[in-house]
Amino acid sequence: MSDIPSLFGSMVFNETVMREKLPKDIYKALKSTISSGKTLDIQVANVVASAMKDWALEKGATHFTHWFQPMTGITAEKHDSFISPTKDGTVIMEFSGKELVKGEPDASSFPSGGLRATFEARGYTAWDPTSYAFVKEGTLYIPTAFCSYSGEVLDKKTPLLRSMEAIDKQALRILKLFGNTDATRVTSTVGPEQEYFLIDKEMFLKRPDLIYCGRTLIGARPPKGQEMEDHYFGAIKPRVAAFMKELDEELWKLGIYSKTKHNEVAPAQHEIAPIFTTTNIATDHNQLTMELLKSVANKHGLACLLHEKPFAGVNGSGKHNNWSLSTNKGANLLEPGDTPSENAQFLLFLTAVIKAVDEYQDLLRLTVASAGNDHRLGANEAPPAIISMFLGDELTAILDSIEAGTDYEDKGKTFMGVGVKVLPHIPKDTTDRNRTSPFAFTGNKFEFRSPGSSFSVAGPNFVLNTIVAEALEQFADELENSKDFKVDLAKLIKKTVNEHKRIIFNGNNYAPEWVDEAKKRGLLNLPTTPEALPRFIEEKNIKLFEKHAVLSRTEIHSRYEIMMENYCKTIHIEALAMIDLIQKEVIPSVLSYQNELVRLLKNKKEIGLDISNTMDEKLLSKIAKLTDCLSTALEDLKNAVIETKEHTETLDCAKFYRESVFLKMQNLRGIADELETLVAKKYWSLPTYGEILYSVQ
Ligand code: ADP
Ligand code: MG
Repeated sequence: MSDIPSLFGSMVFNETVMREKLPKDIYKALKSTISSGKTLDIQVANVVASAMKDWALEKGATHFTHWFQPMTGITAEKHDSFISPTKDGTVIMEFSGKELVKGEPDASSFPSGGLRATFEARGYTAWDPTSYAFVKEGTLYIPTAFCSYSGEVLDKKTPLLRSMEAIDKQALRILKLFGNTDATRVTSTVGPEQEYFLIDKEMFLKRPDLIYCGRTLIGARPPKGQEMEDHYFGAIKPRVAAFMKELDEELWKLGIYSKTKHNEVAPAQHEIAPIFTTTNIATDHNQLTMELLKSVANKHGLACLLHEKPFAGVNGSGKHNNWSLSTNKGANLLEPGDTPSENAQFLLFLTAVIKAVDEYQDLLRLTVASAGNDHRLGANEAPPAIISMFLGDELTAILDSIEAGTDYEDKGKTFMGVGVKVLPHIPKDTTDRNRTSPFAFTGNKFEFRSPGSSFSVAGPNFVLNTIVAEALEQFADELENSKDFKVDLAKLIKKTVNEHKRIIFNGNNYAPEWVDEAKKRGLLNLPTTPEALPRFIEEKNIKLFEKHAVLSRTEIHSRYEIMMENYCKTIHIEALAMIDLIQKEVIPSVLSYQNELVRLLKNKKEIGLDISNTMDEKLLSKIAKLTDCLSTALEDLKNAVIETKEHTETLDCAKFYRESVFLKMQNLRGIADELETLVAKKYWSLPTYGEILYSVQ
């Protein structure tokens, strides 16, 4: 691949293409519509659509699709061809402004959480011109938002776009207070680091649990896991390197800034990170990245696992959501500056985030809640379910001194007061060391480490934007009426630090002592999805989203229902898959090995050998006993699955899945895993963890 700059974005209808293909007045009209957020004039839309179609045809497209992000967490598309019949029986390729701007997919099968009555099952998709259209596999993709006919949002994208408006509005008010009038827009920026597993496709196809659930439901630990830490940043194997190369090329064609790739901690685990960009584009790009990870892997005879915990006992996968705020002049608002005023502004934005995270811990927690992510957050794995923030020693000391009203000293120099003197330079590298914190300041941005690897980043980010917008709004309300800005600013920062410093924790988040300490501080610990999700429909949170016009009460309730339902369905499917797996794979394997042992013992007996207390006899009786336990545990699980029908209320049902079905699955798994260690390899029909994790050489 010699010419990456010309490859980059070659399949995207981006600025350069627009400027080249659209008449000047149309381009201008489109741009001003985009920046004002108004609806596009149909005349303009017709011209844009026609240019887009001509460009797409050149790129080999025959179809177009409105691409949207329903509440399933993945993207949806329905392809229509450009063909339009003519009178003489031939066809021409057509695409109208109307088709570009609005689509009406039959949406009755997408989750709506009870929002959409069946008589108005249609939804509609509306073009989101802030994200570029692109061509992939012969289709022109038009990024869209998805609503019900009565206007309620049914997708992940719309609340995200709305939250970006909210934070823009409030951040600009703050900037004005500091005399910054050049910036006319503040956007949140995101760079999501994506973790994933890559295994051989043949192994994948032999594991029904991976096929149906994306994770292994049983599997004994391999002799070697991640304890040697030899995989992290290790040399990339040739097969993986070939996959990564093609993946990069495909991502670049779609204008995705794929930048970093490396091996992760666990065997077969890897990471890909892009250069950060505006949040809604970062979200679209991350969805595409997940799709391409899977499709490119498939071409290489590999399977990409995006589940949060594909293998028990082996590190799970997350998605580190790096987040900051940037002005349209390119200033990063979470970057400590060089002047006293810049620093005071930085401290105000920083304390806004501290306040937001403390006051809305529950929202941040629930935005990363799912059956899959419960295996990471609620378990002995980073980050924990308790939301706290890491600021690093230096910044914490600065905040401490502001709070105490004392001077802060660094290398013999004294710094004091807010907006009076320059802050000491805060080196990036010392702040980035705590890998256990769920929400870490890393020098000029925050890294939210709790989202699961399969998540859309839309959820975490619409919450993050909204809660910070709320804090900024309260700050702006207070400071706009101030008679002495500097004094009141210092007071506000001091007060905020004092009220919310309990959320700051620079220690080891994996340590069991942290759980007690967090409890003492009054921080929330919501280890499971059924515990976290009900917080969504609490009055304080509904009011927040309504106030910032991000979600309505009905929309919140619908989302709550969808997320709960998704949780229950996931465990339900896992339970059924597990029952099947035990019956069709484990029991037959165990029985055939037992049969072999029985035959051996019988033969021994026939030739007059004493078999009592021999190794084979003991082994047989151990396996036979475990098999009985397995059978009882299996019946238990089956009964629990039947009993789920009695739990019709949403929360009650989710709790039953967690407290009964899930625990019974764990119990069954324990027995199956022990049997796996006893049964001879040739009788064990499923590929083992060792075989799967070391399958790509
Ligand atoms: P690491 O966390 O591995 O040290 P970096 O700090 O360079 O690496 O960046 C990790 C991710 O954070 C990358 O995806 C990067 O684009 C993103 N990132 C960097 N700066 C910002 C920012 N201002 N806003 C959002 N994301 C950012
Ligand atoms: Mg990082």
